[in-house]
Amino acid sequence: MSTTRAEAAKRYPELGQLIAGEMRYDGGRSAMDVIDPTTGLALGKVSMATEADVDEALAAASKGFDIWRNTSAFERSKLMRRVADRMRERAEALAELLVLELGKPWSEALGEVEVAAGMWEWAAEEGRRAYGRIIPSRELNARQVVLMEPVGPVAAFVTWNGPLVTPSRKMSGALGAGCSIVLRASEEVPACAFALAQIVYDCGLPTGVLSVLAGEPMMMSKKLLESPVTRAVTFTGSTTVGKLLSQQAVAHMKRPIMELGGHGPVLAFEGINVQTFAKRAVAAKFANAGQVCFAPTRFYVQRSIYADVVEAMTAEAKKIVVGCGFDSKTQMGPLKSERRLKAIEDLIADAKQCGLRITTGGKRYDRPGFFYEPTIVADATVEAKLSNAEPFGPIAALTPFDEYEQAIALSNRLPYGLGAYVHAPDFATLHRATNDLEAGNVICNGWRATYPETPFGGHKESGMFSEGGIEGLRAFQNVKYASFS
Ligand code: NAD
Repeated sequence: MSTTRAEAAKRYPELGQLIAGEMRYDGGRSAMDVIDPTTGLALGKVSMATEADVDEALAAASKGFDIWRNTSAFERSKLMRRVADRMRERAEALAELLVLELGKPWSEALGEVEVAAGMWEWAAEEGRRAYGRIIPSRELNARQVVLMEPVGPVAAFVTWNGPLVTPSRKMSGALGAGCSIVLRASEEVPACAFALAQIVYDCGLPTGVLSVLAGEPMMMSKKLLESPVTRAVTFTGSTTVGKLLSQQAVAHMKRPIMELGGHGPVLAFEGINVQTFAKRAVAAKFANAGQVCFAPTRFYVQRSIYADVVEAMTAEAKKIVVGCGFDSKTQMGPLKSERRLKAIEDLIADAKQCGLRITTGGKRYDRPGFFYEPTIVADATVEAKLSNAEPFGPIAALTPFDEYEQAIALSNRLPYGLGAYVHAPDFATLHRATNDLEAGNVICNGWRATYPETPFGGHKESGMFSEGGIEGLRAFQNVKYASFS
């Protein structure tokens, strides 16, 4: 890393609206502050799209779709691979925006750039393999074929916790399938989405295929979903907003692709190496300050190893260096906002009232910005708020269990079903739990829930359809049957 926070902040870009490949700064739009979570002060301003901006982006997406669907999959793939290369070339500049806007440590920011670039690469390749099939016909001279077509222009909405990976997922999935896309950037971390879109245009994307706007969410979702132009909506955010958008989408027969909240259970069985488990569990738990939808959050630990796991995880959590993401020693940055900090304070106040044991952490740091201590809560009961509401922050809640069935019941009792983790010494338990856990991603004896080439999506109220893998492109495709006699 060759910069300081102060130097980087001076470079924070002016932000407009990217409509049909052109940045628009004019028009007297209203604007809101983008807050630096490390200081709590404004980094810059993001302008708010007008209704006319959204109309223009929709018209561009309609024309852009005609161009892009008629561009060969081979050409689309070449362009998208260039995007991945360009992202890697500009990794430091992108990481700088990530650290400024989200506060995450520099190494994590570079990691996010690499993961996001990998998504472009994967979608570029997989878009070339949008295979259909031939169905043997009942008539000898006939051909019956199934074709996979792009669904049409896509409306995309993203949240703030993956400023580069989430827009990358949406853009690369839609473009890889041959769709055009209008993406509403998160108002809290807008610069990353705009910088990414600029790279895509620099790599030669035809005008209109992609627009990125920031703006008032209700106005934008209403206009984008009611428009006859868009054919699918993809959203990453909370289950509450996801349900609202799904209802709006279905009212207009648009496909809702939903990546929503989670409250990841972890099952830890006796016989595992407690020290290794604790070290890696803590690293996974506190990555991105716990602001990860598939983060491990509810730890159910077999009683015979419970005290040792609580002790080891507490010791590991105490070692975490919290600070500014531009400091090379920092392992965990601030939360994104005062709103998130208050939500965590509320969960901990309730935990204390319920008599749970806070073995480390439990308060905000006495410094500017939105820093909160890495926190371990032991003996969590089902009544406590943090056992029910997604914490989306630096809290791990631990509960002992006796029988396998009890651990599964605790894991499955919530309406969420996104990430789940099982740590056990024997394959039989891992295999059984994989079957029994109600979750879209079950990770056994490991912590990484998603790669560009693997499908990622929630069951139950955690979502609909998947991103990543071949499934990620399928979500943006229509099936067409054609016959030739
Ligand atoms: P949120 O749903 O409150 O907000 C997400 C975004 O949606 C924000 O930019 C917000 O402005 C916007 N929004 C709000 N109302 C809208 C509307 N009516 N139309 C369109 N956009 C609207 O979520 P949050 O609390 O900011 O983000 C955290 C949530 O996101 C957590 O629940 C987390 O689990 C989830 N998440 C899920 C995934 C996944 O892939 N499953 C990934 C990251 C985050």
